[in-house]
Amino acid sequence: MKVISGDKVIYKFSPDMKAVESISPGDVIKVETNDCFYQQITSEDQVLTEIDYDRLNPATGPIYVEGAEPGDLLKVKIVSIDVKDKGVAAVVPNEGALGDQVTKPIIRVLSIEDNNAIFHGVNLPIKPMIGVIGVAPSEEDGPRATDSPWKHGGNMDTTDIRAGSTLYFPVNQKGALLALGDCHAIMGDGEICFTGLEVPAEVTLEIDLIKDKTIKWPLVETDEYTMVISSGDNLDEAVYEATSQAVNHIKDSLDIEWEDAYILASLTVDLKISQVVDPKMTVRAAIPKHVVSTEKLLESL
Ligand code: CA
Ligand code: ZN
Repeated sequence: MKVISGDKVIYKFSPDMKAVESISPGDVIKVETNDCFYQQITSEDQVLTEIDYDRLNPATGPIYVEGAEPGDLLKVKIVSIDVKDKGVAAVVPNEGALGDQVTKPIIRVLSIEDNNAIFHGVNLPIKPMIGVIGVAPSEEDGPRATDSPWKHGGNMDTTDIRAGSTLYFPVNQKGALLALGDCHAIMGDGEICFTGLEVPAEVTLEIDLIKDKTIKWPLVETDEYTMVISSGDNLDEAVYEATSQAVNHIKDSLDIEWEDAYILASLTVDLKISQVVDPKMTVRAAIPKHVVSTEKLLESL
């Protein structure tokens, strides 16, 4: 199995970024990811404003997938996410949903033992997820810093991007150029205070290609749902995009009129908040598989 080491990182998803490794469809690979601070925080006594902000949100890669061409889908199955035994969470004035109420920066370093973190006596069973994962953007979208989510993926901070889930990305550039980082041992929907429990990790992925199919925004498939993950300058914009795509997917999959698909979406689709703290906000529109199976959705593209 190929291992992509954690010292090969990018801070920008660019249309023309250079690959550090090449793999074939069907390969299972291991990717070492850094935490969003590039492990610069090791103690609660550190001053958050004194770390190197140029090294925030490193994403390991990019990984070139042989045969991937613009107009294909990259399929990324998350086999496992093994997090290290220490995680960092923090607050900073003017960051997060309640940034105006934060009076001082605070760092919390939590030990993770037997898949549990403990915070002020509260036991937290971990649910590891990937914060940043994406491919090279289109020329039209241009370079995107790794702290921001967009159509190529990026900092989607979506709790459903976890072991057992499968992601689908639009391939915009030859080789797709996958990169990932910013795993969280645990995070609530919204990522309210601006961090999850930030941890380095070893992520095992199975990579595949679906030829000649395209989507506007990334999808994540879980046991129950196929979700459209969309971002916007505010939640309204993100909701509009995710909902538009979900209704179109239902319409095309079931071959029904748009208005009927809109009604069916209203009866069955769950809108979920992914995060409200990154430069753009992210939501997902979750289509239950009993309404439209992922296979059927992909076939209709
Ligand atoms: Ca993040
Ligand atoms: Zn993070």
